Amino acid sequence: MTYLAVPIAAKDVGVASGQINAASRAGAEILELRTDYLETLNTGILKAYLGCARSVELPLIVTCRDVAEGGANDHPGDLRIDIIVEAIKCQADYVDCEYANFLKPDVRKRVTEALAESKTRLILSAHDFNGKFKDLTGLYDEIIEACPQAIPKLIFTATHINDCFEAFDLLRNKKTDMIVFCMGEAGFVSRILAKKLGSFVSFASVDDENATAPGQISVEELKQRYRWDHIDAETEVYGVIGSPIGHSVSPAVFNACFDSENLNKLYVPLLVEGEQEQFNEFMANIVSRDDWLNFRGFSVTIPHKAHAVDYVERAGDFLETLAADIGAVNTLKVGYGGLVSGYNTDCAGAMDALVAEMGISKHELHKVSVAVIGAGGVSRAVVAGLTDVGADVTVYNRTLEKAASLAEEFKCKYAGLDKLREMRADVVVNCTSLGMSPNINASGLPEESICAGMTVFDTVYNPVETLMLRQAKAKGARVVNGAEMFIRQAQAQYKIYMGTVDNENIMRKTVFGCLL
Ligand code: NAP
Repeated sequence: MTYLAVPIAAKDVGVASGQINAASRAGAEILELRTDYLETLNTGILKAYLGCARSVELPLIVTCRDVAEGGANDHPGDLRIDIIVEAIKCQADYVDCEYANFLKPDVRKRVTEALAESKTRLILSAHDFNGKFKDLTGLYDEIIEACPQAIPKLIFTATHINDCFEAFDLLRNKKTDMIVFCMGEAGFVSRILAKKLGSFVSFASVDDENATAPGQISVEELKQRYRWDHIDAETEVYGVIGSPIGHSVSPAVFNACFDSENLNKLYVPLLVEGEQEQFNEFMANIVSRDDWLNFRGFSVTIPHKAHAVDYVERAGDFLETLAADIGAVNTLKVGYGGLVSGYNTDCAGAMDALVAEMGISKHELHKVSVAVIGAGGVSRAVVAGLTDVGADVTVYNRTLEKAASLAEEFKCKYAGLDKLREMRADVVVNCTSLGMSPNINASGLPEESICAGMTVFDTVYNPVETLMLRQAKAKGARVVNGAEMFIRQAQAQYKIYMGTVDNENIMRKTVFGCLL
């Protein structure tokens, strides 16, 4: 059982009362009374605080955090111990004392004596806000040796997602109740997987404003977006690998689909910073823990699509020919035993979106003149799909050498962006990031090049209606938005993961719900 704990971080008991009720309504399973946030603190105030918190009938953790470990106000050390001892006397369910302070003989004596007369359980905590502990397992063993009944709480900052695996391993091998997860954006996933791996609690805030630690998520997001109430040890995990990744709509989309089919599956954002080496290390961490971490598939985005090709070629199982030709994998499936296969669904997603909006079959693009703007990963997928059906493709790109090399590979034409003004194609596809939020006033296509009768497709999907599409619509051109491509490539991914797909309406509703 993993309890969902909500810290109450209020400057006085009056403010705390509002937070307590909000946390209870949001679905908190334990409240952590962070008494260090109180501006005025004494044992009388603690009793009033406990009285107020008990009105919602949830288990309580009383914490008076030392500033050295992230405390809010610098209350004197003696007072902090008075608060812990008083909380024990008042039968708080749990008290949290920093392990470093517990090692002081007077603190240990007072806390241990109070605990002897109470049902309160002791949490002994250690935090590292700068990075990993030198020896996480050693620290856990040390705490258990110092106080075998204690719940060790070991929280550290992940400077890279690969740091999280040490926390996962400790949870996996747990012999006692313990609380282990990572802070920071790279540690985000550990707060969610804490439930799958049986951490005693994971912490979430009432709302974003009241987060008490870096990377803390709100209860609502954890429950609604990340299927908290459905997670257990058997949950199969999927995720989107990229950097940055916070903006991705994929977790909302896939989790909505899992929800609709009541599947024991979860989809998480995975911030994998760095290049090939860090990507390979991440995949090695996943694969070597395949039998209990249960990652079954990934979407792959910037900057790792080419890294995923290299990884599957060297260490994986099956690499789809199309993905190899494009040089980009956006979908990884992890088979049982940890064998990883790579696919590209951007190509099918783009082609399907284009022909559906044009009301034609793929083969009717034969000899149709198409201008593809950009020469990056998505352009490669789009050019591969278009040249495969014999479209007359010209690639326009800021960096001319990249356009030339892509054109040579796929036997098509190329030019610089300055030539777009003279371009007279039937179909234009923007595959650059121009126009993407927050730079929504940019467009990859000069307005004067647009004419009625043209089909203008912007692969950018945030916003759904980019400046380029607004200008095209105004000139009477047919438009195709990037969300249509996103939905179709996600459908193809779902089919690869699951074997079947029957959730277009849910995907559509979720994508447009997130983006509009
Ligand atoms: P990428 O590999 O980084 O390529 C980016 C391309 O954009 C390059 O050709 C680059 O030109 C060009 N570019 C970037 N900034 C520019 C600027 N200021 N002026 C002119 N050209 C610029 O990225 P990608 O993976 O191909 O993704 C491109 C876009 O596709 C994304 O931003 C996203 O909006 C969209 N996308 C859509 C979907 C979907 O499902 N709808 C899926 C994935 C991606 P240089 O070669 O000169 O650098």
